[in-house]
Parts: sequence; C-alpha cells; structure tokens
Amino acid sequence: MNTCRAAVITAHNQPLEIQQVRIPDLDPGSLLVRITASTLCGTDIHRWHGPLPKGDSLPIITGHEPCGVIEEISGSRTDILGNPIKRGDRVVWSYVACGSCYYCSVALQPCICRGRASWGHNRADEHPFLLGSCAEYMYVPPECLIIKVPDEVTSASAAASACAYRTVMHGYDRLGAIKSHETVVIQGSGPLGNFAAAVAKDHGAKKVLVIGAPANRLEVSRRMGADDTLNIETVKDAKDRVEWVKGHTDGRGADVVIQCATSSAVPEGLRMLRDGGRYVSIGVSGGNAMVDIERIPQEMTFLNVRSGEPRHWLQAIDFLASRRDRFPFEEMISAHYKLDQINQAIDDMASFKVVKAAIDFN
Ligand SMILES: [Zn+2]
Ligand SMILES: [Zn+2]
Repeated sequence: MNTCRAAVITAHNQPLEIQQVRIPDLDPGSLLVRITASTLCGTDIHRWHGPLPKGDSLPIITGHEPCGVIEEISGSRTDILGNPIKRGDRVVWSYVACGSCYYCSVALQPCICRGRASWGHNRADEHPFLLGSCAEYMYVPPECLIIKVPDEVTSASAAASACAYRTVMHGYDRLGAIKSHETVVIQGSGPLGNFAAAVAKDHGAKKVLVIGAPANRLEVSRRMGADDTLNIETVKDAKDRVEWVKGHTDGRGADVVIQCATSSAVPEGLRMLRDGGRYVSIGVSGGNAMVDIERIPQEMTFLNVRSGEPRHWLQAIDFLASRRDRFPFEEMISAHYKLDQINQAIDDMASFKVVKAAIDFN
C-alpha cells in the first residue's frame, strides 16, 4: 500500500499531525497530482478551530488551495480548453458540481449546488483519502476540469487562485462591465481585496479606493492598483470612513463597493455606495451584521458571491500570467513554510501575524 505525508486535523484546536495517508488507486478519468504548493485560507483556520456550520468529520487533511504536477492519469484527459494533458503538466483543478440538482440543472447556478464536491474537509481515512491540499499528493476526481498553469505563474500564486482569486473573478463576472467614469471601493486589504483592486484597475475604473489595515498591506494595495487607501487602524470611526469615500466621489458615494473583508463590513460598505450603485459581497465569516433596510441606497444591486465556476479558475490563472508585469502578485503571499511547519503556519494565520501562508513542497 502506497502512502504519502499529509497534515491532518485529528482534533479541533490541537496541533495537526503529519501522518502517512493512503494513495488511492485511480478511477477512470481521475488524476494523481504531486503538490508543489498549497496556500492556506481563512476557512482552513475556521475549520481547525471547530466544525463549520454544515459539519466536518475528523480526521481531515487541511487545505483547499492546491497547485501541483500531474503524476499519473487514468486514461486520456484534456484540460478546460480541450487540449490534451500529460504527466508532468503543472495544473490547478475546479470543484465538482453534481449536474443534476435544481441549482445545477434548472437555475444554472452550480456554485450553490447542494451536492458539490470541494476539498479540505473530507475524511482522510475514507476513499479517496487525498482530498486536502496540505499533502504530498492529491487525488483529482474525474469530473474536475483541469487548468494548466503557465511557467510564468508561481505555484503559490496558482494555488491562491484555487479559492481566493477565482472567487474575486466570479464577483467581477456577476458585476459586469466597470465604466471608465466609475469609482470602485474595496473593503479589505488582504489577498482578496488586493487582487480585487488589481482587477478593478485593469477593467478600467477611474478610481480604485482600498480600505483596510495594517499599513504594510495598504502599501501592497497601492502597488496592486489602488489610487488611494484608508487605514482603519488610524481612521477608527466608520462615519469618517464613509465621509472619505464621499469626498472622493463628489458627495455621491462609490459606483461600486466590493466587500473583501468579512460579512460584518456590509452595513458600513452600503453607506459608502451611491444610490443606484452595485454592491458585491465576497468575504465571509464576520458574525452578525444588521442592515437598516430603510437606509440602503435606492435602486441599488446587491450581489452575494460564493466560490466560483470552472471558468473563474481559468480567468484567475490567465490574469496572473498576462498581468504579471503590471502587478506584484507574489507580494500577496505573506509567508512560506514547509509541510513540517504546518502548525507554525496555522498559528501565524490564526493570530493574524500572516495574511496568506503558502506551504511549499519543492
Ligand atoms: Zn478558501
Ligand atoms: Zn448540483
């Protein structure tokens, strides 16, 4: 029986164990991928602290943002563009929607498929074992769509595209075109917010404003396309932050506000939006937030975005490759660790010392 090393959560809030986990036999159409980098996301930390609302059953291999090199393919497969894939190709791969529930087949909204398969929460002791990204290998189910990673995109950035960046692309997909006179406010200066700033700038916004903290993250925001930034550690009153946005927009408020922080930032963000504006909510896990329905902007649109469809993985990888000379994407990955240092990486993210950690396998 072949095994590989993996970082396994065996008890909530306890150190992860590096365990030997079984490598499964491949089903037709499936792949075995040797992981080159895995990035950690806030959801991994929430899952480590305790079960998420829909419940997790331990032990699980942590991580759902993988990039890796194909080790083995069962049968012949193509990538999302129809090109053949082969052993040695560096790839990322999409989640799998069931294709037959109401959301998949009637509403055509596979991101909210009730039978969707995703990674980082599956039992490590049940077939196919390797469905978490902090492991030397991952199993890729036959239904996943495969996206090749160009040489110019690092494995850590490609891994971050597998959750954070593709969700941003999904948000812009639903938002539609940004007009050249429009001002976009981004709430949050982590990897979601800073990637969103780059896309807003690239899509032609007149002005991109990022609101976040700490100061060094906001410096990254500026290099990622922000025309101006506001530090919530120094401007502590929400009223002053709303006034800052109004001062940038002739008193109207922003045309577009994108929430890339936590859902508790929504009420403040709505106050920054002009009447008729568009609000995109991407960040999650903010606790309870109350919105006064009488005070929301008139004629506004609210988009509550979750996850992404396979094309959003492709769009994120394409953006990283084609805009690499314009934006310093690597600055969004704030620290690199080896698999043996997984508990340090988790601690550093849980204590907010590190915004986005990458586990490197090479
Ligand atoms: Zn994630
Ligand atoms: Zn479905």
